[in-house]
Amino acid sequence: MWSRRLVLTLLATTTVAGCVHWRKPAPLPTGSTLRIGQLVINSDFPLPPEHRLLSDLTQLRVRISDELALPSGGEPVEVFLFQTPRGYQTFLRAHHPGVPQRRALFVESDTHLRVYAAWGDRVAEDLRHEVSHGYLHSLVTDLPLWIDEGLAESFEVGADERGLNRPHVDRLLAASQQGAWQPDVTRLAMTRSIDDMQQTQYAESWAWIHWLLNSTPQNRSLLQGYLAALRQRQNPVPLHEMMLKQNPAAANDLMAHLQRLR
Ligand SMILES: [Zn+2]
Repeated sequence: MWSRRLVLTLLATTTVAGCVHWRKPAPLPTGSTLRIGQLVINSDFPLPPEHRLLSDLTQLRVRISDELALPSGGEPVEVFLFQTPRGYQTFLRAHHPGVPQRRALFVESDTHLRVYAAWGDRVAEDLRHEVSHGYLHSLVTDLPLWIDEGLAESFEVGADERGLNRPHVDRLLAASQQGAWQPDVTRLAMTRSIDDMQQTQYAESWAWIHWLLNSTPQNRSLLQGYLAALRQRQNPVPLHEMMLKQNPAAANDLMAHLQRLR
């Protein structure tokens, strides 16, 4: 996710470019607008309201509330869908220069929760991931990066998979076997920037969240209680510290959890 730092960069760039050069406009896709639940979906092509992707995204909101014991509601999440990757890339280059190349993007500012994506083969997965960020940020502030990404990686898989992100299981077990990775939630929790998140960090973030939600009632309650405290701005003890206090052998349990999922 990208927060205010990105918006400030955008303003500076726009001012300089506007003074010196005329640029071909790179508008937001607003030809078609659908309002479905918490989502406002804008696209530069007609998107049928009954499209399965849209019911998938509204169902995702229910999944998030149910799994995390969070309330429904929250501020709108705006989705901007480009018909072609070229339109999406042109927009990003003009309005969010400097962001890494990604197929989709979530941007939070003081006034908006926005998702940008291009239509394509993996748009459903991309939207589930980025819209999850939108839903979560509409409910909880100051979500640590590893928890934010771990949750989005859990909810990006289809509902039938029940949060099981199989490529991450394979990646982590292979890396562990090669001696290239061992779980370390304290190290993971120190990751502060999306620029420092490699595939292994995304996978490990997912793994801890999947373990918390699917191992024991105590672990599930720990995550749910932490999110509730964040939501109420109670400045809770960091989740990874509570996890290790409750279970000093959490890393061993996580490895056993991954082995069972193999
Ligand atoms: Zn993400």
